Amino acid sequence: MQAATDPSGIVELLSALVACPSVNPGVPPKSGDIYGETRLAGLLADLLRGWGADVRCPRDTDGRPSVVARFDGRDARRSVMFEAHADTVPVDGMTVEPFTPAVRDGLLYGRGACDNKGPMTAMLLAVKQLLQAGPPPVTLYFVATADEEMGGSGARLIVDEGLRPDLVVVGEPTDLRVIHAHKGAVRWRVRTRGRSVHSSRPADGVNAIYMMSRVVRVVEEEIVPSLARVSHPLLGAPTISVGTIRGGSQVNVVPDECEIEIDRRTVPGEQIDTITRDFAARLANLSRQDANFNHTLEITQDYPPFDSERDAAPGRIAAAALADVLGAAEFDTAPWASNAGFFAGAGLPTVLLGPGSIRQAHTADESIALAEIEKAIRVYAACVNRFAACP
Ligand SMILES: [Zn+2]
Repeated sequence: MQAATDPSGIVELLSALVACPSVNPGVPPKSGDIYGETRLAGLLADLLRGWGADVRCPRDTDGRPSVVARFDGRDARRSVMFEAHADTVPVDGMTVEPFTPAVRDGLLYGRGACDNKGPMTAMLLAVKQLLQAGPPPVTLYFVATADEEMGGSGARLIVDEGLRPDLVVVGEPTDLRVIHAHKGAVRWRVRTRGRSVHSSRPADGVNAIYMMSRVVRVVEEEIVPSLARVSHPLLGAPTISVGTIRGGSQVNVVPDECEIEIDRRTVPGEQIDTITRDFAARLANLSRQDANFNHTLEITQDYPPFDSERDAAPGRIAAAALADVLGAAEFDTAPWASNAGFFAGAGLPTVLLGPGSIRQAHTADESIALAEIEKAIRVYAACVNRFAACP
């Protein structure tokens, strides 16, 4: 029955992955059954060992596992790595069952269906397809990384461990377009510290929220206009956004603490050190204007941007694979960041493509088209065959 309605096994595998929650615990980390990658890593390790892989589950400094599976190829000197992140965003406000996958009108619904368990399913089934005729033509790695959504500790770990595949294929929902450039991101946390007093005598205290309002104005009135004047030929202007604000304990107390988190999207060529120094200098300026202005600034996450030549080997191989399967290849750029920036930044030839639309990622009714996963399986397998055929 399963075989007749799901001949390629897409629904069965994707359903199993969606039904195995792997919500990123976030910062500070939440605990509970649905959080973390441990259970999904166990599922993947069992599956891949069953297919004959040598499997390791290296852990980041917080103990969160990634999965590294290796299938030795007929040409063991050359290797292709498929990489898909294992974590998902939270499920708050979802209008579909997050972990009970449902298929309607050719779409499979659930948290992570599109980002990133659909691309992961396509990669796994491409590996399975390549194994059908015995050892694959070159050595294959399948890697499922922890923590892509909140800092990329899994991808950093893979790079730091020194895995050096000859081609990295990063799976993310790109509508099966080759993304050859995307923005990076740096996230800052700013804290202001004042002095609490009874709110009936505010002049005796120092209001940390008033201080922070000056920081927010610097972002909105100075940095936003300055970034709008920058233009990268592929990716346009960098951006900045204040994403969270917290402060104060109750209404009748002058607040002694306030905290904001800022998301700054970078374009290739921008250095995180340089832009952080620039922001720090603007905050130091506020300190000079007011001796009470007491603040800290820290980097909480950073993702490098990704910028590759369309005509370089990874892009050419992906374009040839897409042409083999779909008859044509499309290139595009993206305003979001991905693990591709870590791998390319380490000097690894990297290409980014996958099934599903980024518009369906992180949504309340997240879904992916099963037909697109079916195409992606063939595209990923063709990437390996095209790579193997290169001299
Ligand atoms: Zn993703």
